[in-house]
Amino acid sequence: MTGGGGGGEHPLTVVLRIRPLMNEEELVGCHTCAHKVDNNMVVLMDPTEDPDDILRANRSREKKYIFDHAFDYKSTTEEVYQVTTRHLIDNVISGYNATVFAYGATGAGKTYTMLGTDTEPGIMYRTLSDLFSAMEKTRSDNTYKVTMSYLEIYNEMIRDLLAPAAGYLELREDAKGVQVAGLSEIMTKSTLEIMELLKEGNKERTQEPTAANKTSSRSHAILMITVKQKNRIRDTKDTVRIGKLFLIDLAGSERASNTHNRGKRMVEGAHINRSLLALGNCINALSDKNGSKYVNYRDSKLTRLLKDSLGGNCKTAMIAHISPASGNFEESRNTLVYADRAKSI
Ligand code: ADP
Ligand code: MG
Repeated sequence: MTGGGGGGEHPLTVVLRIRPLMNEEELVGCHTCAHKVDNNMVVLMDPTEDPDDILRANRSREKKYIFDHAFDYKSTTEEVYQVTTRHLIDNVISGYNATVFAYGATGAGKTYTMLGTDTEPGIMYRTLSDLFSAMEKTRSDNTYKVTMSYLEIYNEMIRDLLAPAAGYLELREDAKGVQVAGLSEIMTKSTLEIMELLKEGNKERTQEPTAANKTSSRSHAILMITVKQKNRIRDTKDTVRIGKLFLIDLAGSERASNTHNRGKRMVEGAHINRSLLALGNCINALSDKNGSKYVNYRDSKLTRLLKDSLGGNCKTAMIAHISPASGNFEESRNTLVYADRAKSI
């Protein structure tokens, strides 16, 4: 499939964000093992190899990775937003779907990028407020309706983060596409209210302690923004153009084997790997320019939900996150390899 949908850029953008080294990490003796070299290149140093062995060091200690863009501790969420998401707003208003997801191990900075804080709001908030101002500037013969839904996929089950009491929701496919039955759709233009809704919703996410981390985020949090547009003059009948934008804070990508868990936790791990693996396989198949690879959306709830929003005319951005700390080297390497594989071939 080839990309279209406005703009001639690649349908898939892969960027990498390295968060700052934390004080706690320095206190336990971690040093920085991941550096941004320039706007496209990241270098990862293997801290387990002997730094005094100069001959070996030159050969194998450093691994370089190239991305569409690289961000480090100096970069702001605003910069990440401009490179990955800002340009998708016009696509969605024109009726095309798009997906942005944050990938990385627990603690790597995904929620910081997607949800953010009061002082540095994340991509979800920035997208919604820019979407509203973009629509206010468009011609008055278009009418728009923007709604937001916020849900989680946890253990291959779907919950409404804005109405958690509703229990588990079903995924349905009909002529209109993929739908989550009974999912609440909120209409608001108050950016303050949006931030509150996102924060409250995030608190509803299923988080449980594991051996590896105090709280490990095992759920995928998905903000779905729908723009319904009708042109008063052109669309004489009841034709509506619908654009959907998915902004996703994925579950931690660390391997189940890193956490010494048994029973229930292992099942969760398998499910998370299944969704992430399925997503990786889909992205990988879509990034193949020949379009010869088969895209299997049916492998997980996440990919089923995104079926109409990946590939084709849909733009996709992956924001991979890593910690720079030497103690997180293995996880960072896994993330770099995963993100590297996702790039267009
Ligand atoms: P994740 O969602 O991937 O598990 P978080 O977003 O919760 O990780 O980040 C872990 C910690 O690091 C949090 O305390 C967060 O505030 C901090 N952090 C992450 N990214 C940044 C950043 N770019 N700048 C400053 N602090 C960050
Ligand atoms: Mg998180």
